[in-house]
Amino acid sequence: MSAIVIGSGINGLVAAAELALKGRKVTVLERLDRPGGAVRTEELTLPGFQHDVAAMNLSMFAGSAFYQAHAAKLAEHGMELVPVNKPFASAFPNDSYFGVSTDIDATLATMKNADDQATWRALMQEFPARAGSLGSLLGSPMRRGALLRTLWRIWRQQGSRGSLEMLQLLLSSPRQWVERNFRDPQLQAALATWGLHLDFAPDISGGAIFPYLESLGSQAMGMVIGKGGAATVTRALVSLIEAHGGAVRYSAEVARIHVRDGATTGVELVDGQTLTANTVLANLAPSGVLRLLPQGTGNADFDTGMQRFRHAPGTMMIHLALDALPPWRVAALQEFAYVHIGPSLDHLALAYQQAQAGLLPEAPALVVGQPTVFDPSRAPTGKHTLWVQVRCVPGEIQGDAAGILNGAWPQVKESYANRVIDQIEQYAPGLSHHILARHVVSPNDLEAENPNLVGGDQVGGSHHLAQNFLFRPVRGYADGHTPVKGLHMVGASVWPGAGTGAGSGYLVAQRL
Ligand SMILES: Cc1cc2nc3c(=O)[nH]c(=O)nc-3n(C[C@H](O)[C@H](O)[C@H](O)COP(=O)(O)OP(=O)(O)OC[C@H]3O[C@@H](n4cnc5c(N)ncnc54)[C@H](O)[C@@H]3O)c2cc1C
Repeated sequence: MSAIVIGSGINGLVAAAELALKGRKVTVLERLDRPGGAVRTEELTLPGFQHDVAAMNLSMFAGSAFYQAHAAKLAEHGMELVPVNKPFASAFPNDSYFGVSTDIDATLATMKNADDQATWRALMQEFPARAGSLGSLLGSPMRRGALLRTLWRIWRQQGSRGSLEMLQLLLSSPRQWVERNFRDPQLQAALATWGLHLDFAPDISGGAIFPYLESLGSQAMGMVIGKGGAATVTRALVSLIEAHGGAVRYSAEVARIHVRDGATTGVELVDGQTLTANTVLANLAPSGVLRLLPQGTGNADFDTGMQRFRHAPGTMMIHLALDALPPWRVAALQEFAYVHIGPSLDHLALAYQQAQAGLLPEAPALVVGQPTVFDPSRAPTGKHTLWVQVRCVPGEIQGDAAGILNGAWPQVKESYANRVIDQIEQYAPGLSHHILARHVVSPNDLEAENPNLVGGDQVGGSHHLAQNFLFRPVRGYADGHTPVKGLHMVGASVWPGAGTGAGSGYLVAQRL
């Protein structure tokens, strides 16, 4: 019998592709009229300006086990990646900056402190082996046997000292890691900002790993974006699925998952149509799965765990069509794919805490993406797109930390976007004069388009330690199985979590 995948997010598509490649008959059902979930590219502002609606950085996909296994096939199906040799920088108020280029001497030249330069070099020397071990842990199925085997292998590779250092890193907060290693407060902030791509503000235990991997990984390998936009991956996956006998159906929203005698028998669409299957993969957040199973799964522990699943604070996206790159005070910033704005560790911590408390941060952390620096095909000649990710903002607004704005997202989103543009103007004065058009997406808008992004949570659920590894989405179910026979979960809410790496989709498909 065929398998059904509910949702065409990156994990759903990767799972479907893997099953189709193994000869399984598979149908993907997508509620929108287009595939990809958070990996899509659209003309959001003006004709000819291609904006990555959500994910822009495809490094996690390029580093994924699925890509390693099928890179050639994806290329045959049209996927094109663009390498980025200047992945990220941070702008600081005193017109200084820190920038990571794949040329280590260029990176070191943007550091002010000789001790920090020596530390960076030393960390880079041990990085390949450390990243390999961490990668095997982050790609390990969260089942007891498989995890123990992975940990044993890491112990053999790293020895006692290396393994304990890795454990300390895994438990550390971003602040603990950067302060343990670096002296310059601006450099510390620049590296810790990566934590806020997930929901790791500087003081949250378990948050050091992402800044570590992204900062040093950027040095070692640069970044990768999609040619013409991130949708290059989505299109290739759909084409691969269809070429192997699978189908992707659009405007096909699933309303119910059918269960008989503890096993799934298929799904019902909102139009009443029933499709039978003994294997159903839900590319959904826990709340989405529970909505489709109004009676629950019959397992109280699992159902309660799913109801208590915690989401992270939200994101706002601002997409700009520009007639020139931002006029950064520091001209070198025009050369980087990402420019982070987050001047200090305390600034990042405060902005996150304000969002957690329901307040619009006075000055949020910003990720300013400049994809057209490396891929001019996304805009008409000489023009540019800007991808501004505002981290973090509340899903539901209780107030404004600046004491200015009043109201819910539909009322305040354009004014809050003005605040963000003003914030960028401090580092790039005159930016506003280059804006041809803009498209603002509030956390509400993100969720309305994709119900997985609850409260605009871009990471599909908090990644704090108590909800990660063996506990994601629910203790005992981190390998994606559920108490309903034949029903599995994939997606950002399932171990190994968010990002374009599609780890859960690949792991679940392999287990099946
Ligand atoms: C704004 C933003 C920026 C990001 N930037 C990056 C980045 O630069 N790099 C990176 O690595 N990661 C980034 N991420 C994270 C990453 O994109 C996501 O973690 C990942 O793409 C989520 O994939 P998923 O498999 O969970 O599915 P989703 O993307 O959540 O897709 C799920 C799909 O299921 C569909 N669906 C939902 N309910 C139903 C139903 N009942 N019936 C049928 N279909 C249904 C939805 O319409 C959607 O298409 C970003 C995320 C966001 C939101």
